[in-house]
Amino acid sequence: MAKSTVSALAPEGARAFVEGPHHLFIGGDRVETGNNIDVMNPATGDTLTEVPLAGRSEVDAAVAAARRAFREYRALSGSQRAKLLWALSLLIDDNAAQLAAIEVLDNGKPLGEAVAVDVALAAEIFRYYAGCASTLEGAITSNSVPGMLSLVHQEPIGVVAALTPWNFPLLETAYKLGPSLAAGCTVVLKPSELAPLSTLRLMDLIEQAGFAKGVVNAVIGGPDVGDMLVRHEGVDKVAFTGQTETGRLILKAAADDLKPVSLELGGKSPNIVFPDADLTAAIGGVFGGIFFNQGQACVAGSRLLVHASIADQLVASVVERAKAIRLGEGFQPDTNMGPLISTAHRERVLGFVDEAVADGAVLATGGTKADVEGLPGGYFANPTVLTGVRNDMRVAQEEIFGPVLSVVKWEDEEELVALANGVHYGIAAGIWTSDTAKAMALASRLEVGVAWINTYGMFDVSVPFGGRKHSGGGRELGHAALTPYLVAKSVWVNLDARPAHAGQSVGI
Ligand code: NAD
Repeated sequence: MAKSTVSALAPEGARAFVEGPHHLFIGGDRVETGNNIDVMNPATGDTLTEVPLAGRSEVDAAVAAARRAFREYRALSGSQRAKLLWALSLLIDDNAAQLAAIEVLDNGKPLGEAVAVDVALAAEIFRYYAGCASTLEGAITSNSVPGMLSLVHQEPIGVVAALTPWNFPLLETAYKLGPSLAAGCTVVLKPSELAPLSTLRLMDLIEQAGFAKGVVNAVIGGPDVGDMLVRHEGVDKVAFTGQTETGRLILKAAADDLKPVSLELGGKSPNIVFPDADLTAAIGGVFGGIFFNQGQACVAGSRLLVHASIADQLVASVVERAKAIRLGEGFQPDTNMGPLISTAHRERVLGFVDEAVADGAVLATGGTKADVEGLPGGYFANPTVLTGVRNDMRVAQEEIFGPVLSVVKWEDEEELVALANGVHYGIAAGIWTSDTAKAMALASRLEVGVAWINTYGMFDVSVPFGGRKHSGGGRELGHAALTPYLVAKSVWVNLDARPAHAGQSVGI
């Protein structure tokens, strides 16, 4: 392992944790594998620490532990599960500064964002699902058979494999853990190998909160370990967040076993601006929509669809603000954008820009690696705005997952709707206008899972969020997120003394 250069700016507790040693968390045990991989600090390009890679035997052990734990965990009352989830939320609050610092080191994001978004929302998620755990309801249904009572129970689906990405590591883990644990499932987590540290820290808090051994397990690995989990006969359900292409592979891998899979995938979201919009608000929404989290967000507003009459003015303001972005290490108080996750990812992002320019788009700003003083090895890229983009270019069609805004102008509303819906993705859209009725009418025509009117990127634990089309059809947050972790079981009870069975009516 290369020498760790954990940022001197990180709080002592976070540095001590990040330096390790790290373990897989299987059946309540800390497990080494003797096969470690380096975890990088994207702001410096240095090795932060190393983590153990799982193989077949650790995957089998984690699934077996989750299966063993399922019988007892599902039998807990809703209020017992609620107590555990609530305790976990308080532990996240207590350790918020450390968890946020771990995200900064592992992912590169600015500290303020990690505190206000990743960690704060993760704690709220466990509080919300603590509430849900004791309110899960079945039903007594009406039926037309005399003397028969019919009930519908909501049962936990079983062992869940939760595969998560690197862009919001702790938060994505919470999105899946909150509802699955509330429903009574047990879980094997597989965080992204690029940013696994906050999930490992969460395992300590899971233990402290009092969850029994095996209720939550964490293994680390890449696509091969993910694939083992997806195909594992001891796994009852796969909850996946990641790239659309990976989602396709996972659906195919789960098909033999007909395993239920929920998919939260990529996006290419339009931020739509009408000439009657409050331009100051719209500029803020367009800017934040694409540059938040370095553009590494599934809901990034990566396409600016702006009415031609205001395009030059609006784009000039966004470009001016993009040029003023201060890139740096997430702990520096004046940093408002961090590095990308890896050099390979930066090459991919800048490759999109080069191709667009070769195809005739105009680089209004950015499009290059960024040199940040004191951080020569960091994976920084300059915030980028491309104008003159045609809707058939790859920068208008494909998810770049970086700080690149593609500007497309429109003249009339039918053309706008065709542009907005003219991509395979369908996760989110922003609409900026002073005419709310017009915005509502447009929202109903957009093929997306979330529409934001005069706001962008608004999230709350109680409001479901997810995509359509190639963005996947799963839902996180709110009551909707519980459904994939529950199975409805109908139970018939004969209240009459007479025997009764299905064939009776036809004389069998
Ligand atoms: P990814 O698809 O490369 O990986 C996601 C997870 O799946 C990781 O844990 C990875 O190790 C694992 N994995 C990769 N290949 C696999 C395979 N063949 N079988 C099983 N597991 C496999 O995604 P990423 O690069 O980590 O994350 C970025 C993507 O996630 C973007 O496309 C982004 O839009 C998407 N995302 C979507 C949402 C949403 O809610 N829709 C939220 C966050 C991120």
